[in-house]
Amino acid sequence: MIILKSKEDLAIMAMAGRIAGKCLTMLGELIKPGIYTRDLDKAAEEFIRSEGAIPTFKGYNGFPCSICTSINEVVVHGIPGDVRLEEGDIISIDVGATFQGFVGDTAATFPVGKVSKQAERLIEVTREALNKGIEAAQEGAHIGDIGYAIETFVKKHGFSVVKDYAGHGVGRSMHEDPIVPNYGRPGTGQVLRSGMVIAIEPMVNIGGSEVITYPDMHVVTKDRSLSAHFEHTVAVTEDGPVRLTEALYCTNEEE
Ligand code: MG
Repeated sequence: MIILKSKEDLAIMAMAGRIAGKCLTMLGELIKPGIYTRDLDKAAEEFIRSEGAIPTFKGYNGFPCSICTSINEVVVHGIPGDVRLEEGDIISIDVGATFQGFVGDTAATFPVGKVSKQAERLIEVTREALNKGIEAAQEGAHIGDIGYAIETFVKKHGFSVVKDYAGHGVGRSMHEDPIVPNYGRPGTGQVLRSGMVIAIEPMVNIGGSEVITYPDMHVVTKDRSLSAHFEHTVAVTEDGPVRLTEALYCTNEEE
């Protein structure tokens, strides 16, 4: 069942999204060779709590941390720990913040120091694939239009999208209906309506689209090729899609 959000709900979701977005921006600034992923997790939890929010992921399905840190061939759900980032790695960070009962969910992939040309290209293509997906999230369009926009763009650049995991509705729960796949056919699937809030999150591999999920839920590309992940929580509105988790979205509040 899809839960439409009221204007009041969306105002709170924008605040939750802003906290998650600011947290991700802050983490991006910490990334450098030598930092431990557990220290990124600690910084994230402190930041989210200092904003009066709760780290959504902590305890979700038993997840032990506040963020996911997925390095190189890890697609999503990497668990922070005693792992040090090395020059040339790429790291995907996924952040969730719950504020006044509503969730903001966002992710981005960052280079660690100097990375290969191909890794750089993977990051850029995945970031742009998210933009394509968001542009397709117009009132009256279909869920399939989003996945079509994402996969078409990714394929054009010779990469592949992960099909076993997808975006999702967001609200008081992190995972609500509908499912938002990163592939699809135009004009198929649920019609997008004003008041829907969805996380759009392309996961893109340099190699094949197949992935393996381990018992602790972390997901790795089957061919061990690099993988990148970008995500925004997006509100479908009469005026077009609104990125709730963009850090810039609400910065004027403090001015
Ligand atoms: Mg998500």
